[in-house]
Amino acid sequence: MKRVGAHVSIAGGVAHAPTNAKAIGARAFAMFTKNQRQWRSRPLTSREIDDFRAAMEREGYEADHVLPHDGYLINLGHPEDGARQQSLEAFIDEMERCRLLGLNRLNFHPGSHLRQITPEACLDRIAESLNRALDTVAGVTAVIENTAGQGSNMGHTFEQIAYLIARVEDQSRIGVCLDTCHAFVSGYELRHREDYLKTMETFGSVVGFGYLKGMHLNDSKPDLGARVDRHHSIGHGHLGVEPFRWIMNDSRLDEIPLVLETIDDTLWPEEIRLLYSMVDAEGS
Ligand SMILES: [Zn+2]
Ligand SMILES: [Zn+2]
Repeated sequence: MKRVGAHVSIAGGVAHAPTNAKAIGARAFAMFTKNQRQWRSRPLTSREIDDFRAAMEREGYEADHVLPHDGYLINLGHPEDGARQQSLEAFIDEMERCRLLGLNRLNFHPGSHLRQITPEACLDRIAESLNRALDTVAGVTAVIENTAGQGSNMGHTFEQIAYLIARVEDQSRIGVCLDTCHAFVSGYELRHREDYLKTMETFGSVVGFGYLKGMHLNDSKPDLGARVDRHHSIGHGHLGVEPFRWIMNDSRLDEIPLVLETIDDTLWPEEIRLLYSMVDAEGS
């Protein structure tokens, strides 16, 4: 079965996320576990944790349907030791928050070299950060998101993602989230059936579908290879509707969170209905 949802708000507390997801017809969702623009947040209270777990149960979601996203300030590959350490501590805190909420994965952007070190040195720092985080917090998989490759952001090629996976000691707790907009602006063509199949085949051979723990379904404002991160509503950007039809009928993408991060949240219920309507009767 396909599980489509959106990145829902936690305004008013994390326990609102499952309710917000249910209200838009989502079978999966993404969320932050804290304010994504601040380094520090107070710890989750046992009341917040209980309320979240109760809301998950009430709305019928399981941990595998949730793809939490980390905060925007974290850079696990930061060239400076102090700044990298601050990021690592924040990342470990977010993994711990996921664990306390009963969630099993945390989606993150690999990091940026800030033009101070080589891309390879940056990837090595990210891998080292991941090993330390996975050592510290049990039961949560770190999910690498492919990026748009804007500025000095790493993770825009499948090879870079494979490089990171190869350097993680516990490969049972490393995963990947594939963002359609980011892939497209990084140069992976998706607009024709054969290009979609080729890109997915490349992903399968370079990274492996066994690592795929979620997707971000976004149309793209910039064109192919622009290396600029600007999402658009489904069918309104350069990707158009068709790639999403192929996704909705691709059995390799069953049962993982397929999360909209499209720019107009008032369209989410409609976009979710549209995506489900594209599933062929004989497909999944
Ligand atoms: Zn992201
Ligand atoms: Zn993006």
